[in-house]
Amino acid sequence: MPQLSNPPLSLYIHIPWCVRKCPYCDFNSHAQKAELPFSKYIEALLKDLENDLPQVWGRVVNSIFIGGGTPSLFSAEFIAELISGVRARISVSPAAEITMEANPGTLEHDSFAAYLEAGINRFSLGAQSFSDSQLKTLGRIHASAEILQAVSGLKSAGADNFNLDLMFGLPGQTQSQALADLQAAIDCQPQHISHYQLTMEPNTLFAHKPPAGLPDNDQLADIQDSCAELLTAAGFVQYEVSAWAKSTDHRNSHRDNRSQHNLNYWRFGDYLGIGAGAHGKITLAAENRVIRTAKHRHPDDYLAQRDASYISKQWQLESKDLIFEFFLNQLRLKDGIRKTDFSARTGLPWERVEGVIEKMVANGLLLDQPQVLVSSALGWRHLNLLQEQFL
Ligand code: SF4
Repeated sequence: MPQLSNPPLSLYIHIPWCVRKCPYCDFNSHAQKAELPFSKYIEALLKDLENDLPQVWGRVVNSIFIGGGTPSLFSAEFIAELISGVRARISVSPAAEITMEANPGTLEHDSFAAYLEAGINRFSLGAQSFSDSQLKTLGRIHASAEILQAVSGLKSAGADNFNLDLMFGLPGQTQSQALADLQAAIDCQPQHISHYQLTMEPNTLFAHKPPAGLPDNDQLADIQDSCAELLTAAGFVQYEVSAWAKSTDHRNSHRDNRSQHNLNYWRFGDYLGIGAGAHGKITLAAENRVIRTAKHRHPDDYLAQRDASYISKQWQLESKDLIFEFFLNQLRLKDGIRKTDFSARTGLPWERVEGVIEKMVANGLLLDQPQVLVSSALGWRHLNLLQEQFL
């Protein structure tokens, strides 16, 4: 049997509150009802991290992502306390990408300069749209003017690495409106754009009462194709289904603008997840197994743990889960899957998947190249079908 080896390690930190809940959102986010327990929550996060440390002794964190919820509800002072607390407990690579999600409607809480000072070196702004009427339909707390203000705040603070989240397939959205939205995002000169489709997720307000005028599949395909052309013409390179980065040529001296943190998830790397409802995935190479962890989901339950473990559930991945999860996200990557990673990250022999891969190659869904397997154009169009083959 091949031996597992430890892949790169990331750290995800979840902040579970928002000003109010957006009707399309299925994240573990809770509308803020009173003053948030800022200090108590930072204290709990650091205790949570301490409890997880035995799983990753001696390993170095290569990226940190503070997501939510709305992390920018926490002032730079709290974020600084959090980052220095993390650094005091686990070794963080000097080159680590440290991202914080920010909602343009909450940024009066602190300047970007102060967040940079706190140790954040990449921001992800939830713009979603530049149309004020769409932002209203989406239940966002900000208007387009606040996105532009946030972008100008980022630039004047000297932040040179930021992502804009932008949705398409909005209610009543035409192709030209989707293109105008995207052009507005490009004009902000971000290093990265996450361009994703509005979907009706179960247990959201929109799933119970979908908004009128959602584009049909043909309209969505037209929007997606024309937006892809616009992004390409603007110098963005698609490296994952929804992720576009500027200057991805990291073989020369340019910085790699792809999200290093997300790439580690997609490549089946390891991550600790701290905070309410956060999930983690850790390889225990010495024990030849991979585990997943989930923390108590509701912020009140999470904060009530104090002396106990914050983990609500921990389980070991079986061979079939390892195979499926290894392929699930990597098939979405344009670069494809490094063949040597399979045994190193699952502990399983390549023969376990050889038959399926040969079939997918014969069907034209996968391209078998010397070092990598890549989804073909046909495979990308039928990604769900391709992913299901590894179930
Ligand atoms: S701001 Fe983001 S995390 Fe919060 S409710 Fe809206 S979509 Fe969800």
